[in-house]
Formats: sequence, structure tokens, C-alpha cells
Amino acid sequence: MGRLSGINYKIGGGKIVEQKEVAEKCPYVKKCGACQIGEKSYEDELAEKKQRVVDNIGKYCSVINDVAGMYYPYHYRNKVHAVFGRRKDEIIAGTYAEGTHTIVPIKDCRIEDAQASAIIQTVTELIRSFKLWVYNEDTGRGLMRHVLVRKGASTRQIMVVLVTASSEFPHKNQFVNKLKECHPEITTIVQNINEKTTTMVLGDRNKTLYGPGYIEDVLLGLRFRISPGSFYQVNSAQTQVLYKKAIQAAGLTGTETVIDAYCGIGTIGMCMHAKAGRVVGIELNEQAVRDAKFNAKQNNLEHIHFIAADATEYMTQMSQRGERADVIVMDPPRSGSTEAFVKAAASLRPRSVVYVSCNPETLGRDLGWFAKEGYVAGEAWPVDMFGFTANVEVVCSLHKKESSKKK
Ligand code: SAH
Repeated sequence: MGRLSGINYKIGGGKIVEQKEVAEKCPYVKKCGACQIGEKSYEDELAEKKQRVVDNIGKYCSVINDVAGMYYPYHYRNKVHAVFGRRKDEIIAGTYAEGTHTIVPIKDCRIEDAQASAIIQTVTELIRSFKLWVYNEDTGRGLMRHVLVRKGASTRQIMVVLVTASSEFPHKNQFVNKLKECHPEITTIVQNINEKTTTMVLGDRNKTLYGPGYIEDVLLGLRFRISPGSFYQVNSAQTQVLYKKAIQAAGLTGTETVIDAYCGIGTIGMCMHAKAGRVVGIELNEQAVRDAKFNAKQNNLEHIHFIAADATEYMTQMSQRGERADVIVMDPPRSGSTEAFVKAAASLRPRSVVYVSCNPETLGRDLGWFAKEGYVAGEAWPVDMFGFTANVEVVCSLHKKESSKKK
């Protein structure tokens, strides 16, 4: 049975096509570790995702809605990464096979942006033709480590980040010119220098080789600058579905003090700004905070400011200063939050918490900590941001229990 059985999808120029024309089979299914969902229908995938949410947070939530699925569940990833390696005499680019350091060469991935995949193929060919060395993890020798392509879904701006093991880059100008010539759609090219023996893709230093060194995207009418190292949601269309749910869950009236914890480049807080009294964004990554400050200015948002700090530490300091928050929005990484964070959040006595999670397991654990602090989970809205993978995003609203209001 086809993945999109029984559903018609609008693609290219709004043409309605039958599912059998668009259902794309993956040639790498058993080799590449990125997707965990095989050839099942999208409806079944969404049903399984809902079950996973129910299994993990069902005991805390009063209502768990159906998963909001994608309109077209292919090529949604606006960020595509490939690692370079060698197979015999050939230079290859792809992803590590699950749990190994063996590279599976990838050409046409059905979840990645197609333009980004094509650029990665060209970069690989240019490495061959310019006779550049690819990095070897075992010996620590060689130059070209990774390539990262990010695209602004609505602006169509494209950033290519070439990750090298040292700052020297032979034939750099010719390489960049050739890449631009092959792909005039590229708006910026950055060299990222990663000299460390690490599994982290990006190093700390960036050199802009062409264009502004960042791309922009538009979400819910606001424009965001995205630097190479800043977190940005990988599925722009579904991010807007997710943020709308988060805004709805916050139930703002225009007067509230809102904290956007784990704020990245400030997207959620800025999308809530129009409905809040003031917003404070807290984020650990300094590059992301610089983007967030720039973004607030460029969108003429005045009642929002950003702090580069550990969210737990900063909220603890706020509480020690006698400050409060009305609503706390939190969007931690996959590992979830910490008990210390939950305690610090509760010490600001918010009337509600909006938890945006990309991992139902850690969300379930964290809801347990919130329950101990007197916050009960209400409605949950799962959103599919990562088709073909087992991951699912959830917005969950929590409210302070009546009896603990006197605290
Ligand atoms: N809300 C943003 C980003 C979510 S990703 C968005 O929707 O785009 C999670 C973010 O949490 C990352 O930007 C990461 O750098 C940040 N982070 C991780 N640990 C943190 C901590 N202890 N304090 C503050 N931010 C943290």
C-alpha cells in the first residue's frame, strides 16, 4: 500500500496529483540511520505517534489531540548535513549508518530539501575536481569534514557551510566561484573551522566567504536571521502550526510577563510578543542570542529582551530579586529539562506553563516534576515536524492548581 493512500496532494504549481505519483520510495531505508519509519502509510505513522504521546503523558493530560500532520510529508527538512569520506578511491558524502561511523552515501533523500541535496552533490564533485583532501577521523588528517546547507523556506535564501579541519583552504576563491556558478540560488557561503576531534559538526570559528554570513526566514509574519550555529526548527511549515498552538495555549491578554526559556533565536517569544505585556528570552548559545537581539530590532519589537544565560540560573536570580512571571514557555532540547529548572520556574509563580517538547519520554518525566510543584497538565497538541522518523513534537499546557495559589 502507498504511503499516502487515498489522499490527494497539491504539489508544484498547485496541481493535484494522486498519491501513487508522489509516494516516494527510499533507497536507503535499511542503511541510513536517519529515518525509523519504514514504508507504512502516513496515516498509520501519525496514529503511532499519537500512541507514543498517549503512552508517555496520558496519565498527566486531560486531553490529547490527534497529531497535526504535514500537508506534504516529503522534502521538509530545511537543514541538510552531510559528512565527507572516502570509499576506495572515491569521495563520498552522506550520513553515518546507525550506531556506526560507516558513511552511507546519500543522493536523493525524500525528507531533505531537494535543492540542498543537489548543492551537496556539487560540493562533493568540486572537492574531487579541486583535489582537496577529505578529513579522516582515524588519522585526524585531511581538510573537508562536513557540509551543511540551510534554506529559508519562505525567503528561498540558502546558506552553505563548508566545515574544514583547518583554516587553510587551497583554491578557496575558485571553489566558491564555481559553487556560485553552479548554484546561483546560494545567497551565502561560510567556512566553519572545526579543528577538534569531536562528533560535533561545527567548530567555533566562522569565516564568511560570500554574502552576509546568515540567511533569513519568515515565520508568522516575522523575519528571523539565522546564523550557522544557531538552532532553527527544521520544518518551517509545521513550526508555524506548532507556534500557533503554543500561542493559543498561553492564553495571553496583552498584559502578561512571558518568559521564553531555551529561546534559540527568539522565534516563539517574538511570535507571542503582540499578545503579551513583555517577553524575556533566555538562551545559552551566545550566537543565537545575538541573532535574537537583531531579530527583535529588525521586527521593531520593543517589549522583548534576551539574556545569554543558563535558564535555570537566570530564573533563580529573578526569583531572588522578587520578580515574577505570568506565563513561562519552555522548549528544551531532546534531553528535556531538569528538576532544578522546574523548581526555578515554579519559584516565579507563573499562572501557566507552555511546554514545547520534541521528546514525549522526557516530557512525561518533566510533567511529573511539575506535578510535584503544583502544576497540572491540561491539553496537549502533538504536531508532526519530522515525518518518516519516530520523533514527534508536543505542545502541552500546564496550570497552577487552585489550592496552591496562596503559596
Ligand atoms: N525555542 C527555540 C529553540 C529550541 S531548541 C525554537 O523554537 O527555535 C533548544 C534551545 O535550548 C537551543 O537553542 C539550546 O542552545 C538551548 N539551551 C540548551 N540548554 C540550555 C540552558 N540550560 N539554558 C538556556 N538555553 C539552553
